[in-house]
Formats: sequence, C-alpha cells, structure tokens
Amino acid sequence: MDFALSDEQRAIRDTARDFITREVVPLEQELLRRERAHRPGLERGELRELQLKARKFGFWGLATPEEYGGMDLPAVTQSLIWTEIGRSFVPFRFGGEADNILFYCNEEQKREFLLPTIEGERFSCFAITEPGAGSDAANIKLSARRDGGDWVLNGEKTFITGGNEADFAIVIAVTDPEKGARRGGATAFLVDREMGWRSEFIQTMGEGGPASLVFDDVRVPERNILGELGQGFTLGMEWIGKGRYTIPSHALGIAERALGMAIAYANTRETFGRPIGENQAIQWMIADSETELEAARWLILRAAWTVDQGMDPRHASSMAKLYGAGMVNRVVDRVMQIHGGMGYTRELPIERWYRQVRLYRIFEGTDEMQRLIISRDLLRGYTKLGGHLA
Ligand SMILES: Cc1cc2nc3c(=O)[nH]c(=O)nc-3n(C[C@H](O)[C@H](O)[C@H](O)COP(=O)(O)OP(=O)(O)OC[C@H]3O[C@@H](n4cnc5c(N)ncnc54)[C@H](O)[C@@H]3O)c2cc1C
Repeated sequence: MDFALSDEQRAIRDTARDFITREVVPLEQELLRRERAHRPGLERGELRELQLKARKFGFWGLATPEEYGGMDLPAVTQSLIWTEIGRSFVPFRFGGEADNILFYCNEEQKREFLLPTIEGERFSCFAITEPGAGSDAANIKLSARRDGGDWVLNGEKTFITGGNEADFAIVIAVTDPEKGARRGGATAFLVDREMGWRSEFIQTMGEGGPASLVFDDVRVPERNILGELGQGFTLGMEWIGKGRYTIPSHALGIAERALGMAIAYANTRETFGRPIGENQAIQWMIADSETELEAARWLILRAAWTVDQGMDPRHASSMAKLYGAGMVNRVVDRVMQIHGGMGYTRELPIERWYRQVRLYRIFEGTDEMQRLIISRDLLRGYTKLGGHLA
C-alpha cells in the first residue's frame, strides 16, 4: 500500500500552493479591512484578474475537458488543489470552470452557455432548493407548463449561491407532477435573467450570501432544456455529487491553516510566565485537531480516488463530506479557544472561518442527509463493511 503522492501530483500541488501563497494570501489583510467596512471582500473584476494570472501558471479549468481548454485533472489532484485554495480565506477559485452538468449542453447551448461560462464571460447559478424543499429535493414544486413551443415557469427557488450575480440559472422544474421529480417528472432548464426571473439577496451568517429567485410566468423556449425532458432530478443529483469531495477538500485547507496559526500562537503567547502550549489543555486541543484532520484527509482522498477508479463514489463521498465538515468546525472552534480574546476579534480570520464553515454542515446535503445515505447503504446491503478493501 502506497500513501505517497506521485511526482506529478506533488508538482501540481506545489505549483498551486506557490500561486496561492504569492498571489492570493497577500490580499488577505485588505479583504478583512473591506469586510469589516461591510464591503465585498473581492470584486468580480479582481477575481477574474487573479484567474487570468493563474491561467499563465497553467491553472485553468481543473475539471474542464482538454477539448474546452481545461486541465481535466483526476479527482485526487483536484482535491489536493482545493485544499490549497482553502489555505487562504480569500474567496478565490481557479477559472475556466463550468457547472459539471453544463457539459450536457447540445452544440447550440454550448456556444450560448457553456463556452462563455468557461471563459468567465457569463456567470451561472444552480437552483434546485425551494422554500418547501431542501433535503427533500424530490418535493420541489416550481412548475414548468408547456405552452406552444415554450415552457412557462412559475414558483420560487431559495438559498441559491451566486443567484444575485448570475446571468443565467440552471433551474430544476417540475414538468410532469403525476410522475414526480424522482421518476422523470422534473427537467433542467437554462434560464437567462432577461427571460424575467428576479433575485433577492439573503443575509446569512457568512460573508456574501445566496439569493432567492422568483419565477412569475417566465417563458423559456424548448431549446433551453438541458439534457433530456424528465432528466432534471438526475442532473441535479449529479451537480450536488461533485461538491461532496470538493467541499471537504476545501475544509481541509482551512483546518490546516488555522491549526498552524494555533500552534504558532501556543508557542509564543505566554501566561503565568510560560507559553500556553506547555499546558496539557492546549496540547490536547492541538493533538485532537491534528488527528481529526489526518482522518479527514484520508476519507477525502479515498472519496476522490473512488471517483477516479470509476466506482460509485456516493458512500465514500458522504463519509468525507460528513466527517470533513464536522472536523473543520471542531478545529476552528479549538483554534479560536487557543487564541482567547484575539480569536474572537475581526483582526484575525478565525471568527470569519467560524462563521463560514458552519455552512459546510448544511449545504449540498446536511450532516443528517449524509448519515441517512451512509446508514441506508449498509442497512440495505448496497455497500459492504470494510470499504473497497473488503
Ligand atoms: C449559503 C447557502 C448556499 C446554498 N446554495 C445552494 C445552491 O447554490 N443551490 C441550491 O439549490 N441550494 C443551495 N442551498 C440550499 C441547501 O442545499 C439546503 O439549505 C440544504 O439542502 C438543507 O435544506 P433546508 O435548508 O431546506 O433544510 P431542511 O431540509 O428543512 O432540514 C432542516 C433540518 O432537518 C434535518 N432533516 C431533514 N430531513 C431529515 C430526515 N429525514 N432525517 C433527519 N433529519 C432531517 C436537516 O438535516 C436539517 O437539520 C444553499 C444553502 C445555503 C444556506
């Protein structure tokens, strides 16, 4: 058994780390200053500039196939890069990406939606959640009614990331209420903002925020159906599947950076005439954090490896998402505790992480939904105990 990275994985990971350290980390203090003044931390133009700079380093479209100019990296390498991105709290991501399901676009849709999204000229958002359907996504009600050559959409989506900035939305709507979403009654539509949907920003605990989208007789031509009629729920679940190893990979980067800060602080902050790191209470917090971090690392890398092996990744990804999200919350909480009052201030990024990572236990499948999947797989015998080594 070999737990080492290949030379190629190491080289790509190190180049990503180098880019983040040299180009992204230096923006951190300004980001904190802006956010303290209730301004956006990073403007759209600034993100684009960074992404174009990264393109010169060769980082463009981590998951994008080479025929579209991307790197088409294996999931394990993508996971390693997401961990590097997580090391900085600047909300940076590499450019050249598009929602995984946009690759189901037909030729005409590729020109209109996929290619401009990859190039960063158009922004998308993905909308399945509704006020009455979150974890229970199959219960969506936003309706699409056929009218001549068009579909007319009515209803509301909520908590949509990027929904206030997006030029178009990938909307999962009910096209056949008799069948139900799960059995072919839902369809994915590509809906331009100009077609008439409205968005409203939702204030949340974290920086930035999602939006609610309102569809009031929004007319969408038949040619804007993504994939097949009735394929919407399957596409929606495929979209969500990707996040189940990238979100915890990002969490790992946050936890590593935060724990590094706590170790440095424990060695230098003195109380009662000696560094706080000489107290067992502090040592145990560091030890527990490092142990959980390492456990999360292998769950995440195995989930990504499962994707690369062409195996069904759902069970492994649910464990990685559940444990990774919990781990980062526990680690950031301890890191704040180790920093005492300073950890609670907005001078340091710790309270920002504390607010940010709480979301990781909620979106793209709550903790409870991950537990539901993991236990169901075992109870119904879909997965054997012992994982792929069984
Ligand atoms: C900041 C943010 C960004 C988001 N971005 C997007 C996005 O881009 N696109 C999108 O479509 N959605 C997005 N979401 C929605 C997100 O995926 C949902 O909030 C999430 O799936 C939970 O749904 P809910 O909020 O309706 O909670 P509910 O489903 O109402 O759940 C409430 C609580 O009950 C628990 N629960 C529910 N059912 C069960 C059960 N059977 N057994 C045990 N416990 C249960 C849940 O785990 C949770 O703790 C986002 C949410 C947030 C907060």
